[in-house]
Amino acid sequence: MRDVSLWRYLLGLEETVIEGVELDWEERVLVVAVRPAARRRGRCGQCRAPAAGYDAGRGRRRWRALDCATIRVYLEANAPRVRCQAHGVVVAHVPWARHRARSTHAFEDQVAWLVTKTSLSTVAELMRVAWRTVNGILARVWEETAARVDLLEGLSRIGIDEVSWRRYQRYLLAVVDHDTGHLVWVGKGNTTATAQSFFDALGPDRCAQITHISADAAPYIAKATAKNCPDAIRVADPFHVVKWANDALGEVRLEIWRETRRIARANSRGRGRPPADADQEFPANQRLKILTRSRYALWKNPENLTEHQQARLDWIAKTDPRLWRAYQLKEGLRAVLRLPLNQAGAALDAWCRSARRCRIPQFVDLARMVADQRGPILAAIEHDLSNAISESVNTRIRLRNRIAFGIKDPDALISLLMLTLSGHAPTLPGRT
Ligand SMILES: [Zn+2]
Repeated sequence: MRDVSLWRYLLGLEETVIEGVELDWEERVLVVAVRPAARRRGRCGQCRAPAAGYDAGRGRRRWRALDCATIRVYLEANAPRVRCQAHGVVVAHVPWARHRARSTHAFEDQVAWLVTKTSLSTVAELMRVAWRTVNGILARVWEETAARVDLLEGLSRIGIDEVSWRRYQRYLLAVVDHDTGHLVWVGKGNTTATAQSFFDALGPDRCAQITHISADAAPYIAKATAKNCPDAIRVADPFHVVKWANDALGEVRLEIWRETRRIARANSRGRGRPPADADQEFPANQRLKILTRSRYALWKNPENLTEHQQARLDWIAKTDPRLWRAYQLKEGLRAVLRLPLNQAGAALDAWCRSARRCRIPQFVDLARMVADQRGPILAAIEHDLSNAISESVNTRIRLRNRIAFGIKDPDALISLLMLTLSGHAPTLPGRT
């Protein structure tokens, strides 16, 4: 191949000398032999400072580049090692790829961009990479971005939230900026130490700038918050309060569903005729069917119900007083949280009184939790920390989480969440 500059342009290579281009017919790949331009040679792969040569490393090495039409492309070069004063013996820097990467900048940027837009399996198939490779790419691209930006600068109103991960076995702690709606920090675990590591990253000066903190009622968050930001107003996130109510309602529904299933099974074993007081209009197996399908109807906001879901709710109202009462209490609490401050206090107290009297244990407990959080709940209404932002971040985290289910490495998931939700999304290569 004579026209080296054409190849350099096609491959988007800078400060790189092309030594040759060859089509490997056996593997059906294009192999481009390269070497760094003179001024990029003999540098530490980690910090790029000039470093003395050490040895030839493991010889020739290949980096995956973006495909040329349908053909896979690899850059091939020597990968000598150097001795850096700060980092010891490391593989020398190459201008076309990140340190420790097995693919080029452009390839990694494109993978990272895609993963923030679509499912991991789609990306793996389109780009012909293993999921494990994607993990490493996400971590490197985020690391590079994080070194450029300071997400913890200028924070004043934040939300701290626990996110379950991998089928609710493990947790991440996420911190959201209420003013921008961006995710600013994610840590592994759900302990005081996790929360403390956020405040450590923030540092005492910036901790003092925090005016409002919204959080779940988790004691470890409250503890870390009180210790590091004693002057900040603690605010209950209305999103969490509604979630508690939804959880309580879900438990009541499940309890009734189990009871109904027990009756339906007993009936189907055909032990004599059904009891005289059996519901003739809705036998147990039919009730069971409707209860099974009513989950979303109970959980959704009534303004978004479909016709079918509305019909199921009407049926519950008619036939199941306990479940209906639980539903009304959930909706009642949601309505209270939308009231202006001058009405919210009295309405919240009235709601607690009525929930305490309802004889549904889950809601009696909920009434206690809500009463405990009365101050923070009213503070959320007073300071207008609308739940819209944290709710949407929370929902998006959960959604990402689901799409990224193949990710088993928490660091890769954190990188993905940050790349998607921090306001610093990866850019596609070669676009200006
Ligand atoms: Zn170095």
